[in-house]
Amino acid sequence: MPLPAKILIVEDDAHIRRLLHATMARAGHVAVDAADARQALALLDIEKPDVVLLDLGLPDRDGLELIQHFRKRSAATLIVVSARDESAEKVAALDLGADDYVTKPFDTEELLARIRTALRHQRHVEAGDVPDVIEAGGVRIDLDRRRVARGDADVHLTPKEYGVLAELARRPDRVLSHAHLLKAVWGNAHVERVEYLRIAVRGLRQKLEDDPSRPQLIVNELAVGYRLSLRASSERR
Ligand code: CA
Repeated sequence: MPLPAKILIVEDDAHIRRLLHATMARAGHVAVDAADARQALALLDIEKPDVVLLDLGLPDRDGLELIQHFRKRSAATLIVVSARDESAEKVAALDLGADDYVTKPFDTEELLARIRTALRHQRHVEAGDVPDVIEAGGVRIDLDRRRVARGDADVHLTPKEYGVLAELARRPDRVLSHAHLLKAVWGNAHVERVEYLRIAVRGLRQKLEDDPSRPQLIVNELAVGYRLSLRASSERR
């Protein structure tokens, strides 16, 4: 059972706002609501939320612009809840500092799971004990020793494959954009070279997935990026 968190809901649609509020309350969280960007910024300072659920289509200000303001003023986890199913916008939101996104109509269980993941990560960071070993889908990633094992066997990865896997493993269950991964592993000069990333991910899947054509561990977020799924299970385990 996760500790309750304070959740700031930023949504101009009253129906969705009430639905989100009820969902958060039912999960034991404390929810505060804002109907526009002005209220949201005021409540951010007063309430100091742990998590912000942000609708990108607000009446008084562009949601993407709001992300930048939030990031300067708060360490809260920022989850974009948007009707806009456009990958360019998701990428922009992530690269501006959003931690995650869900697309409306959203599955409330999925949203609560994303919040749990975010809170767990946030609390690890605050306590200064970000885990060095990540296990999912029968794969064990030891970030301290730079070792990866599948079942009992060590897996040999190329430096770029390891770089991509380690970057994903440091933020498990969160989407990292193509540009984020390319910048982290190949450097600023190569942020456009999505094909580098595809090759590394293909290699990782061949070495780590039960069925590389149906990946469970390194999940595609179409036209946005990749996510390391902690919910991956393995038949071999
Ligand atoms: Ca809206």
